[in-house]
Amino acid sequence: MSYDPNNIFARILRGELPCNKVYEDEHALAFHDIAPQAPVHVLVIPKGEYVSQDDFSAGAPDALIAGFWRAVGTVARELGVVEAGYRFLANTGADAHQEVPHFHVHIFGGRDLGRMIKRFDD
Ligand code: AMP
Repeated sequence: MSYDPNNIFARILRGELPCNKVYEDEHALAFHDIAPQAPVHVLVIPKGEYVSQDDFSAGAPDALIAGFWRAVGTVARELGVVEAGYRFLANTGADAHQEVPHFHVHIFGGRDLGRMIKRFDD
């Protein structure tokens, strides 16, 4: 899948659309999810054109991968969720229902998140 430069997170990165920013550095931008599913629900996106975690891990330069994952950790610490615990998640592709085709990590916290994901036989 080729990168769509008009996806909503690309437009946020370019400053064409607003976001409720919580963190930014040279590698990453983090902002509150517009439809939060937990008391803390923040998205962290890399500053680069990567469709998904698959694309990012295969094609991004080492410095960006390192900087991005450090930013995910920094954001979680700054959100104050580390002590109680949190979950990060990156939907990748159709089975995972990825909606926005710019790689992003969700950080969830602020409540008991339950265990893992819904079982396939539930
Ligand atoms: P995913 O299914 O992993 O692609 O999730 C995309 C996420 O982006 C969803 O949780 C949406 O609520 C969130 N989202 C969509 N548009 C915006 C926006 N403009 N600002 C913040 N979050 C957004």
